Amino acid sequence: MDFNQFNFESSLQEGLDAMGFEKPTPIQVQAIPAILEGKDLIACAQTGTGKTAAFILPILNKIAKSGESGLDTLILAPTRELAIQIDQQIQGFAYFLGISSIPVYGGGDGIVWEQQKRALESGAEIIVATPGRLIALLAGGKIKLDKLQHLILDEADRMMDMGFSDDIMTIVNYLPKERQTVMFSATMPPKIRQFSKSLLKNPEEISL
Ligand code: AMP
Repeated sequence: MDFNQFNFESSLQEGLDAMGFEKPTPIQVQAIPAILEGKDLIACAQTGTGKTAAFILPILNKIAKSGESGLDTLILAPTRELAIQIDQQIQGFAYFLGISSIPVYGGGDGIVWEQQKRALESGAEIIVATPGRLIALLAGGKIKLDKLQHLILDEADRMMDMGFSDDIMTIVNYLPKERQTVMFSATMPPKIRQFSKSLLKNPEEISL
């Protein structure tokens, strides 16, 4: 089994080749077709399984195929380090695609804040954000999310443990109701299942 089975756009396949990705991991084999089909998805997967590429690749392919520019996807992550890591993987794959992404996270100094605001004004297809900082930008009217197509929650269990549930629900209120929502979590306790019910519609479930 290799990546050809997904029929990715040729410039995305070039990005995969450039990154040295040859075979999809088990989580990628299951998650990529479901996301390409537009389904909501809840996936239980640990770090190191290739979970990041499992959501980035189908999202990039959908954006490339649509040929549209402008904000399309919001990825929420618990920490600044994870947001930066996800953003860097997107940049690697998107090199030949003309799709851009911006990491938005708290901490840092005023310069980082200014850089993030300026980058947002210049436009991007994907925002990778920590919930607290994103709320600050939304409250300041710096980001409009009303045309968003895809919402991805990465490490949802960790976001809940860090107390981000209310922030996430506030952010979701800024999003269109018609959207695709994908949730990744390392563990699947009852509180995560409950939380997912308020965000996902008839989700497909994947557990490795
Ligand atoms: P993750 O589980 O998303 O943190 O990914 C773990 C590491 O595996 C990252 O460094 C990825 O770049 C790498 N990786 C993910 N999928 C593949 C793949 N299909 N082939 C080779 N490396 C991969």
